[in-house]
Amino acid sequence: MMKFKKIKNRLVLNRKVIVILYATRHIPRPLSVIRMEHKEDIIEYISIYCTDFYNELEKKAMRHYVAQVKFLPYKDRVEKMTIAYNRDSSNDSEVLKLLKNGIQEFHRNAAERVLNEHLCELTLNTCPKCGGIARTPTARQCRYCNHNWR
Ligand SMILES: [Zn+2]
Repeated sequence: MMKFKKIKNRLVLNRKVIVILYATRHIPRPLSVIRMEHKEDIIEYISIYCTDFYNELEKKAMRHYVAQVKFLPYKDRVEKMTIAYNRDSSNDSEVLKLLKNGIQEFHRNAAERVLNEHLCELTLNTCPKCGGIARTPTARQCRYCNHNWR
């Protein structure tokens, strides 16, 4: 049985193509190829679909942001919103630091960390032909080479 070691950060950052042999101790998955030249798109994909891999601080920051945008405007008018705001709003300086340059930069940084630290655990939907990252986990057409798969 083939064993696979975690890819080191510096390799991920320098390589154009990453080939992952998924660990066989879980459900065996096929060989996966990821084209790293689309790194910006990979980071965007992770920031939308792989936030389970965000750490506790990053999850708190996400909840804090939602609390400011969604709950704060109704905080003193709707009881449910007051409860949600008080639950998710944070004054932890570490959390606020993550958000200091805005939500987009926060997601970029968090997703980049996830990419570097959890690449082998991520389930990324990639094109079987060119290895490009798909737009969504269920997409079946490649945005780069137009290949269709089922
Ligand atoms: Zn493709």
